Amino acid sequence: MTRRLWWWVADIHPLAEHAAAAPQNFTPGLTDHNGRWDLPALVWSRDRDGDWLSSNGLPTWYHADGAVHRARAAGWIHTATGATGNPPPPHDGDHILPLHTVHPDGRRGLLDLLRFAREHKVPWLGVHPDAARDDPHRYVLSPTQGDVLPPDATWVPVTVTCGTVGGGSYPALAAHGYTTRDGTPLCRFPREAVTRMARDLEALRYDYPPGEHPLLGVLDDCVIVYREQEDDDENRRWVEEDRVPVDADGHFPVGAHQWRWIEVGAPSGNSGGAAASLTESHDPAAAPTTVYLAGPMTGYPDFNRQGFAVAARYALAHDWKVRSPQDTDPTHTGPCPDGERQTTAGSHPHPCWVRASLRKMLDCDGVLLLPGWQQSAGARLERAVAEGCAMPIVELDAGELAAFQDRQP
Ligand SMILES: [Zn+2]
Repeated sequence: MTRRLWWWVADIHPLAEHAAAAPQNFTPGLTDHNGRWDLPALVWSRDRDGDWLSSNGLPTWYHADGAVHRARAAGWIHTATGATGNPPPPHDGDHILPLHTVHPDGRRGLLDLLRFAREHKVPWLGVHPDAARDDPHRYVLSPTQGDVLPPDATWVPVTVTCGTVGGGSYPALAAHGYTTRDGTPLCRFPREAVTRMARDLEALRYDYPPGEHPLLGVLDDCVIVYREQEDDDENRRWVEEDRVPVDADGHFPVGAHQWRWIEVGAPSGNSGGAAASLTESHDPAAAPTTVYLAGPMTGYPDFNRQGFAVAARYALAHDWKVRSPQDTDPTHTGPCPDGERQTTAGSHPHPCWVRASLRKMLDCDGVLLLPGWQQSAGARLERAVAEGCAMPIVELDAGELAAFQDRQP
């Protein structure tokens, strides 16, 4: 159990501004400690997907496509028991976080605190569940993500990749049996891995639009995550996005609760086989071959995470970089495609995932088709697009993958 809930300030500051600027404020069924329900506030709610903050401003803030705007606290879950790291739900009144509390000692109210955090690039807000009004420590701003890794976890060696780092794979320690609330492994990286990650990201810097990939500054006691931003005048600058402190045994939880790490096991010897065409079609002097994994997810346990992990191991055994639809980020500027809308939980409709996944696929050098792809409309579509674009396609069969099934990192 952690002491606080942690939110990414950039996620919740706009919600607070919405509540503060709204012509009316209303919180159905809830009042604050003074019995008020009509003051600007953030509202803390909990459902099976996690803990959320939303604005109590009226009119309600919807996404362009109809979903209510809200932000989820960073938190872990023990997948076997469902135990989570978040403190238990508070009494009724504690669900209301008023924005304009006046403190006799001159402390900032919540809105001022969030504005201060944005201005000074402090990325995390920790909220204590107890609303005891005179506790000066209910809210803390932190340059780091606080106590959001499970304290009692067993840490096991793994190799992981994710889209944010461009598909390179890195050794890490993962909390055994735990994930973030969206199913991502919780990872800590040794210094050598972070240093290589920083180098790899530096190499990607000019190949992608601003903001697509971060840069890392590796210091003795922390890693600083920078992200390129473009202002209204199209001036670009690198701003500090996160600060990841080294832990007691010299590891850095880079991207924890932010980036969607995927476990891929460890690279190993070359297995040859059907993959030769892909390797031959690629100029060995160029950057490493990057492959996109296409396969079935719907209807499989855990969305076929295991199948994708095995295919990724196969790819890494060929020294290929891996990109996977399993860590696709469907968010986009502008509304969702015509006639589609986000769910109330804020997730995008299927076409948004398809678009984002196809974009990701088209950046790759080839496509690996997982067993069972024929049963997946998405994988069939990806195969057709890859074919139309003359991308090399390698169809993996279950027998070929078997060697990678139980391989331990
Ligand atoms: Zn969308």
